[in-house]
Formats: sequence, C-alpha cells, structure tokens
Amino acid sequence: MSVRQFHPPRLVPQRCAWAVLASAAALAACGGGSDTASSSQSATAMLAVLETTDLHFNVRSYDYFKLADDKSYGLERTATLVRAARKEFANTLLVDNGDTIQGTALADYEATVNPIPCTQQLAMYKAMGALGFDAGTLGNHEFNYGLPFLNQVLGGGMEVDGVDPAKKCAGAGYPAVLANVYSSKTQKPLVPPYAILERKISATDKDGKSVTLPIKVGVIGFTTPGIMNWDKRYLEGKVYTQGAVEAATQYVPELRAKGADIVVALLHGGLDGSAYSPTMENPGLHLSKVAGIDAMVMGHQHSVFPDSAATPAFTQPGVDNKAGTINGVPAVMASSWGKALGVVQLALQWDGKAWSVNKAASKSELRSIQTGKDAAGKAVYVDADPAVAPLVEAQHQAAIGYVKTPIGSTDFRMSTLLADVGDPGAIQIVNQAQRDYVAAYIQASLPQYKGLPVLSVSAPFKSGFQGAADYTDVAIGPLAINNAADLYLYPNTVYAVKVNGADIQKWLEAAAQRFNQIDPAKSGEQALISSFPGYNFDMFTTPDVQYEIDVTQPKGSRIKNLSYLGKAIDPVQEFIIATNNYRATSGKSFSDKLDGSGTLWASPDANRDVVIDYIRKHPGVTRAANGAARSWRFTKVVTAGKVVFSSGPGALAVAQAAGLGNVSLLAADDGAGKGQAKYQLDLSQ
Ligand code: MN
Ligand code: MG
Repeated sequence: MSVRQFHPPRLVPQRCAWAVLASAAALAACGGGSDTASSSQSATAMLAVLETTDLHFNVRSYDYFKLADDKSYGLERTATLVRAARKEFANTLLVDNGDTIQGTALADYEATVNPIPCTQQLAMYKAMGALGFDAGTLGNHEFNYGLPFLNQVLGGGMEVDGVDPAKKCAGAGYPAVLANVYSSKTQKPLVPPYAILERKISATDKDGKSVTLPIKVGVIGFTTPGIMNWDKRYLEGKVYTQGAVEAATQYVPELRAKGADIVVALLHGGLDGSAYSPTMENPGLHLSKVAGIDAMVMGHQHSVFPDSAATPAFTQPGVDNKAGTINGVPAVMASSWGKALGVVQLALQWDGKAWSVNKAASKSELRSIQTGKDAAGKAVYVDADPAVAPLVEAQHQAAIGYVKTPIGSTDFRMSTLLADVGDPGAIQIVNQAQRDYVAAYIQASLPQYKGLPVLSVSAPFKSGFQGAADYTDVAIGPLAINNAADLYLYPNTVYAVKVNGADIQKWLEAAAQRFNQIDPAKSGEQALISSFPGYNFDMFTTPDVQYEIDVTQPKGSRIKNLSYLGKAIDPVQEFIIATNNYRATSGKSFSDKLDGSGTLWASPDANRDVVIDYIRKHPGVTRAANGAARSWRFTKVVTAGKVVFSSGPGALAVAQAAGLGNVSLLAADDGAGKGQAKYQLDLSQ
C-alpha cells in the first residue's frame, strides 16, 4: 500500500531532495551535486522526524474562552519551528499524533454548531495543509463527534455501521493511519493501519559525495483502547480495539515485507510503568520493544519527552531522557496544543540496496515555541507563521461569533483560582446543572430509581497546570457561551452512577490526593497542592453533603465527618451521582463502581451543553444561589510553618469576595516560571 499525500500545489513547502517521487521540479530546485548513479555504494543520511501531538484544534494562538490572543500555544507558532527545522535538515518527515480535531470552540463550531459541508476541509486540516504533513494518526478525541463526522473529515470510505462508505469528502490532506481500531462490520481496520511513504532522500556516499536515494518510510498508528468507554455511545457494536503491541506485532512485519526501509510508530499514548495489557492507555514502554520499530512519537499525556528538567516527567526503567530513547528506540512526546515540536534525528545507513537506522547515532529533542524570557521575565515566543491565520480566518471569526452568544448574567466573579482551598464559585453551577439534568431523566425514564437522592460532583478542570492563565475566571456581567465553556473545559458527557455512602467516602478520599500530607510540627514552608491533577479533585457543592479534609493525615484517611442531610452518611444508603463519562468508566481508583459497572445512564449530552442549558433556564446567576454552597472544609490545625500554594496573580480579591479569610499573599512570583503568585493558607482558621 503506497499512500501519497495531497498538497494544494501553492502550499507545497520548499524542501530540497526530500520530495515525493513524482515531484521532479522540487528535486531540480535543489541544485547540482546529486548523483543517483552511485546508489549501489554505501551511504549515510539524516532524517528528521518532526512531531506535533495533541494539537486539539489550536490553530491560532487564541483562547476562545477568554476571547484573547495567547502566544503560549497554537499551530501557527509550531509552524515556524517546522519551517526552521526544514531549513536545518535536508530530509524531514512531518507527522501528527492525534487529538487533532477537537478541543476549541472552533472545533465544536465546525462539528456541531454549523457543521462544515463534505466539500470543505476542517479548519485544522486546512492549516496543517500549509505545512504539508506527511502522515498522522487518530487520538481518542477524534472519536468525540461520532463516526459519520470522522468519516467525512477524513475524506470518506469508512466501512462501518452507520456510515455511507460511498461518501467522498475533502479529507485531511495527509494519510491518517490507525492499526488498532477495527470495524465490526468488516473485521478490518477502520482506516488504513499504515502507510508507506515513498520519498527521495539527500545522502552522503562513502566518498563524501552528495547523492539522492529512494527510501520507503513505513508509518503506523495506535490509539487508546479507552475510546470504547469514553465514546461508547458512538462506538459500541460498531468498532473494537486491539492492544498496540498486538497490532504492531501483526502489522510491522507486514510493513517490512512490503518494502518499508524504516518504520515510525505514531502512538497516541505515552508511558506507564505497569505490566502490559491490551487495554492499557499508555503502552509506550511495551510498544518500544516490538521488533522493527525504528522511532516512536508519543502523545495523549500532554507531557514531554525527552525532558531535561531536574525532575523529568518520565523516569521509568528503559526511559533515557539524555539520549531521548525508550528502550533504545528514539522517541518524543511534544507536549500539547502546538507548544513544542518533537524532533527525532534518525541516522540512516544505506547498504547499496536498503536503508536501516543506526539507533546509537540517532537522537531526539523537543523544541519549544517559547524561546526565552524578556528583561521583565515575561515569556517570549517564536513569531506566528503568517501563512496559517488567513487560511482559517473566516471560520475563526464565525467561531468567535458563536461563543459570544449571550445566555445570561452573573453577579459574581466565577473563578477556580481558589477552588483548591474551598471556593465553590465556578463549580457549584456545574453541579447544579448536572444534578437537575440527571434528576429529570431519572424521574422520566428510570422510575425504579426515583426514590434515590441525586447528587453531583465536579472538579476545577482549569487549576493552573498550564500556568497563571489556566484558571476558569468569568467576570461579573453578561454570560455567553464562551463562559460556559470556560466553566466546563472538556467535551465530556454526563453520566449517572449508582453508588452507596461507603463508595462516596472512598471517592472523596481519592479526590483528596490533590493535597500533600502536611506535618503540623514542621517549621519550614510546606506546599499544599500535590501533582494529582485538579480535574480529578471531585467535590460536592451542596449544603446536603458536608465533609472535612484533614491534610495532616496520609492519603486514604483524610475525609472526616462525612454527612448527608445533617447525619453521618449511611455506608449502605444508595445515591445517584451525576458525573462525566471519564470518571464513570475509568475511575476505578476512585471506586470499584466507576469502571462502568455502576453506570445507570450514559447520557448523550455534553456536560458543557448541560451547563449552557441550565444558564439559559436560570439566566440570573448569583453568588447566593450558585456560588456559595461549600460542602467541604479543611480540618482546622495549627501549623508551625507556613502552608503555601500557587495560584494566579489576582487570587486575593477572589478570596475576599468568596469569604475565604484564611488566604494571604506571600509573593507576587512563586519562582516556578509559570507566572503564578505564592499564597499562604492558614489552616488554623
Ligand atoms: Mn489530548
Ligand atoms: Mg488523547
């Protein structure tokens, strides 16, 4: 199978020697010195594999929630790094690792609000076309809008239930490969499992002379088997998954047999030190050991590899952050949202007939779009590539118009700046919306559960992980769709689960891992917040449920005085909890019932849309009604030293407005380089 990428001709980037076979003009433009006659001799070449991953439809450096530019991400800036790499390396291969078509209001606009016609490319793919991607794979989020939409945006031809395989559309503009998702209808891969890219490569022969030689690059893709849970409503009965290792074991030899000189694995997954299982989310350590894989690009975890930090993101056995290898295989994970470009420099050897990779001479690195800091300490980023924005301008403006649609107003600043220390201001309305939505459904459609109380949990999804701007922060005044999307960041769907009082206690214990264990006797500063993600810090926000979190206790023993309607919660009393698809299906570490087995109802509606509908029904949002119900407090304790945490620079005003009298500002800059300030929490108050 030879797949040729499609380039709109005027957008073909200038690339010497590294050109598609048919493109004689591109070769000629590279000038003299090449000699293909010497191809029977040995030669060496360097091929730079360039990776983007988890772009999440961030074409522009623009925050649709804040309606403001944000230079810290966006393909328009990664594009500048791509162009620089192409000047630096004679031979490059540009691949995208998935989670590409979902993640911004522009994505939702083109998929659901005003769906693009079959003849039109997604704005994301148009922008990628400016760079001429060679291949890509599919992430879990490619399945978020269902199979008919995925079929359309990939160009058509998918043979799966519910999709017309005869439909042919504009497509991605590059081959999308995925080896571990199968159509139940055909028992064959949903999209081509791999592609063989036939190229010509600029090399140096043993006499030091420049030569041009053909190469066949095999590209194979793998995604997270979790799609079967996360997008169950779209995928159940229609597709099934295989483990990445099983799929690679089947298809890598096939790729080799079909003449691939080298094989690049596109893994929409990352690294996890646990034993292999075919459903594991991040199987990179195991995939790297499959024979025949020469390079691995990774993603999904939105993390970085290789990582030169003092405490690298990945440190499992087999991970070499200096060499940039995983079990000896050159590899990268290029952050997310276009914040970095992964570069794998593959040292190639030509034996007169075929290429092989000298892994020991290969290396990988990440190149950040942040180039440094200015004199004032502010981050400086590469300029945006001017070719990208004009390609998506019309759709970009349409998406901005969509997100500005007014739906209500708020009399208080709805913020997650202090959600970690007790402000329910941006979380309560999400819980109210989810609870109402689930309760109405139970009444109408599941009368056998009518007698059970319906509660809701949610979490501060934006809680500073990406820096000072990464907080939900909705100003007093009109509420528009963009604010609702800010209140609920992810395109999750509402799930209702049935649990008992004991499960709730366990669930809250898991969520309380958000905090480090504080030693009251310690005299030095202690950081309150652990590396446990904010989006996992589930909380109730209702007077009906009350509990304390005692951070002086070890993980698993922190939830105290858990009560329902003023009485200690009954461990066997049953409750229905409104949550999201992720927690309900892959929340086993929170409760045994959160592996899907406790799900009463997998709703088809996005939590975000449920919030938007709730605000439409209750357009006058107030602190008293929607932002003041605290379910939890820290257990009071006097500490010898200061208990500190980081948050955005304006958090003190939020503390005052929320009535949190125990927060004070320690330093305007916490020193971590993310623009955050340092605050003190007085646990004795
Ligand atoms: Mn992602
Ligand atoms: Mg992903």
